[in-house]
Amino acid sequence: MSKTIYFDNAATTAVRDEVFAAMTPYLRESYGNPSSLYKIARDAKNAIEKAREQVAAAIGALPSEVFFTGSGTEAVNWALIGGAFANKSKGNHIITSSIEHHAVLHSCKYLEKHGFEVTYLPVDKFGIISVDELERAIRPETILISIMYANNEIGTIQPIAEIGAIAKARGIIFHTDAVQAIGNLPVDVKADNVDLLALSAHKLHGPKGVGALYIRSGVNVLAFIHGGAQERGRRAGTENVASIVGLGEASTLAKAEMDEKIRKMRKLRDKIIVTILERVPNAQLNGHPEKRLPGNASISFDFVEGESILLMLDMKGIAASSGSACTSGALNPSHVLMALGLPHEKAHGSLRISVGRYNTEEDADTLIEAIVPIVEKLRAMSPLC
Ligand code: PLP
Repeated sequence: MSKTIYFDNAATTAVRDEVFAAMTPYLRESYGNPSSLYKIARDAKNAIEKAREQVAAAIGALPSEVFFTGSGTEAVNWALIGGAFANKSKGNHIITSSIEHHAVLHSCKYLEKHGFEVTYLPVDKFGIISVDELERAIRPETILISIMYANNEIGTIQPIAEIGAIAKARGIIFHTDAVQAIGNLPVDVKADNVDLLALSAHKLHGPKGVGALYIRSGVNVLAFIHGGAQERGRRAGTENVASIVGLGEASTLAKAEMDEKIRKMRKLRDKIIVTILERVPNAQLNGHPEKRLPGNASISFDFVEGESILLMLDMKGIAASSGSACTSGALNPSHVLMALGLPHEKAHGSLRISVGRYNTEEDADTLIEAIVPIVEKLRAMSPLC
């Protein structure tokens, strides 16, 4: 069978060889429980602490500020729910944006059911929040601001340092969901005045099912999982040692290769965007033209369904993603594309191509040569044309 041409790196990425090699000793030889006292357990414990240092170095944090979790989603839930309840005596108001990942939006809905009030800031047509609007939304009882670093669907990057400065000046905790940013953008929690930051290993060529929450020293966040003393008593449960080691290794490699990776991905991304927009009429780029993730190309095609393009690309061995989510048999256009003000039809006709470190010029050419006739063919069949 021929290899998949993979353009869905925002959904997940392949585990790198170096990461896999770093992980396997902790599944097979040093498989001890890190809480035990003998050698193979101590080795596992030391490996976790090394990974903590690696993740901390990748984001400009101290190792003592990094806590491992079971996913990016868990890290986000911990930041929001643990942060909100720990600071309830100071106020009950939270500010977020309307284009956050469901990990944030559904945590906010949960908090609303438990006495918190949430302001969902709108975004402009590029997907950027207004910093002035954010300042106006702050109330005396605002305790938490949660704005994503970069959007998973349209790639738009938010003015994180500006938001961090405002939150710091007002004494409000600032959380950023940086799941799409880590590994794709240089991130420094101190420079950006970030208090809480969620990340996930599988977006940066690490394994699935492991993430981390950065908690700035001194920020009050409740313990999230109760039980043993792991993660300094704040996230109990025997550690997923091999995966944590994988996250550490992936973080180090991503930081070391950041500039080169960004340059390469941008070049491929721009070639894909420019050529498709040139060759396919009635197609538009979603998100900001410059302030976007280096690998993200989100494009809407008039008169066709994104899902149909996906299926036809899949038949050619190409993997990408669309802007619709299939829930209970119905296709709902993405809340992100709707928040940009896109009409339903355009939101339904969107395709997300996410370039990664393994994509080549040849992959990009194959993708372009596939998409152009697919859109033509679908339009020829479409009752909307
Ligand atoms: N936040 C963003 C912006 C994401 O893109 C994702 C995953 O797609 C998550 C959170 C959730 O991360 P995980 O898959 O590790 O739970």
